[in-house]
Amino acid sequence: MRRAVFPGSFDPITKGHLDIIKRASKIFDEVIVAVLINPDKKGLFTIEERVELIKKVIKDIENVRVESFHGLLVNYMKQREAQVIIKGLRAVADFEYELQMALMNKKLDPEVETVFMMTSAKYSYLSSSSIKQVVTFGGCIDELVPDEIIPDIMGKISEK
Ligand code: ADP
Repeated sequence: MRRAVFPGSFDPITKGHLDIIKRASKIFDEVIVAVLINPDKKGLFTIEERVELIKKVIKDIENVRVESFHGLLVNYMKQREAQVIIKGLRAVADFEYELQMALMNKKLDPEVETVFMMTSAKYSYLSSSSIKQVVTFGGCIDELVPDEIIPDIMGKISEK
């Protein structure tokens, strides 16, 4: 059983994330999307809300599920008996940070491999934070996030 974990903040999930999830689901037997609980960082959506949004988006992909986790990723991987961390790479800027994290995780647990997947060109400019900016200032996010969660995002922004 090859089980992979795709960790991140997913505040909120974007079409860029979903693209990586779908591609990874074809390579691994099971993919767990893992929402990192970071008490120091207050996001737009609560952790529970992010998990719910991801659930809506992955509901038709059989071998993908979502959970939240806190603490060290390598410890969570052990608990879940997962061997592979999946990361998406958009630009050179992602690389430096991701290389450092991959090497640190390797040091903490030599059994764990990090596998990098290149962004699809059409999503290479997408990030959760840019989506939040666009929607805050009234821009259209139709092409950027999965259709089924657009009302949730619009609703959240209007609450603020
Ligand atoms: P962000 O807030 O920058 O979108 P996350 O922490 O939610 O980042 O990202 C989780 C993972 O998804 C990271 O590995 C990140 O590199 C990857 N990712 C985010 N957006 C994209 C995209 N458009 N294409 C490919 N990978 C992406």
